[in-house]
Amino acid sequence: MTDEANETMNNKHSPMKDKIDILDRTPEELISDMELLGERPYRGEQVFQWLYQGAASFSEMTNLPKTLRRKLEGKYIIGKLKQLKRLVSSDKRTIKYLYLLADNNIIECVLMKYHYGNTLCLSTQVGCAMGCSFCASATGGLVRQLTAGEMMAQILEVNRDIAGLNWEPVSGVVLMGSGEPLDNYENTMKFLHQVHNPRGYNMSWRKITLSTCGLVPKIRLLADEEIGINLAVSLHAPNDKIRRKIMKIANAYTIEEVIGASKYYFEKTGRRVTFEYALISNVNDNPEHAFELSRLLKGFPNHVNLIPLNENRHSSQKRSQDAAIQRFVDILKSSGVNVTQRREMGLDIQGACGQLKTAYYEEL
Ligand code: SF4
Repeated sequence: MTDEANETMNNKHSPMKDKIDILDRTPEELISDMELLGERPYRGEQVFQWLYQGAASFSEMTNLPKTLRRKLEGKYIIGKLKQLKRLVSSDKRTIKYLYLLADNNIIECVLMKYHYGNTLCLSTQVGCAMGCSFCASATGGLVRQLTAGEMMAQILEVNRDIAGLNWEPVSGVVLMGSGEPLDNYENTMKFLHQVHNPRGYNMSWRKITLSTCGLVPKIRLLADEEIGINLAVSLHAPNDKIRRKIMKIANAYTIEEVIGASKYYFEKTGRRVTFEYALISNVNDNPEHAFELSRLLKGFPNHVNLIPLNENRHSSQKRSQDAAIQRFVDILKSSGVNVTQRREMGLDIQGACGQLKTAYYEEL
């Protein structure tokens, strides 16, 4: 066992475990906490602002009295994640992070540098219950839900790290790392409101993308929230037969129900839905599949994001050949489908969800 792993095991009774993660508190909750601590309510607002300006310790909150800072230290932690690994891709545009949580679970997130800003792909669960056949996150099943504070901490920790590289702070997030965000609905919604809060991180709804494997009732619930974030639906197949072979969720909801919920999302929010489609060799990538997909998506504004499969060693499924990918793109385009092929970022650092964490455990 490595030293890091030993430390991980010995960390089980850390005092951090008994403290509340202050990043999990809304401004309203902090205001009532202050009253319980015998402080004036406005102090809660001050603390909230410090947190989202990136304060890593209570001692940095210099407009708070020392007595209050001591009280805060006794009661809370500031969402500390311990960085276990940090891998930079050869083109220096993608950084993958592996973080240790206070209870010794491990999560990962990926920072992508684009010309329009830095986007963080973050995790919403430890593991995932959805069991998609091509995904490394699915191998151990769901371990636990992440709190809103643990989602927020991924952004703030990455910001501290990239400040050293003179990179701009994270300006967009995609909930597309380990986990199914709609299977952790309450915490995900709390996080979305925290990250959007103009008094806090102040990220526009338009800069947030939530990716789901297709939990139909939750897509409809999200549409009814009317917050107008971007929705990406992992479709990965043009019909139920193929979808059931590669995605367990297809046994719960038909493709027709998934498309129906996506249309509803568009009607309620005005946001065009993106359909993610991972091209898997000889599974979902032949010309008939492309024609079938284009028929399925006719009649409402949407967009298809083709992703050549990011292979992982736990699955025998293979990435489609370049010629098959090009043929698929051409058919969709000629059928009038709005399609792009996603850039394969971070392949050399195990950029797909769950891959780095799985590799880390295998090293122990
Ligand atoms: S692809 Fe997403 S929903 Fe499917 S198992 Fe992986 S993390 Fe879960």
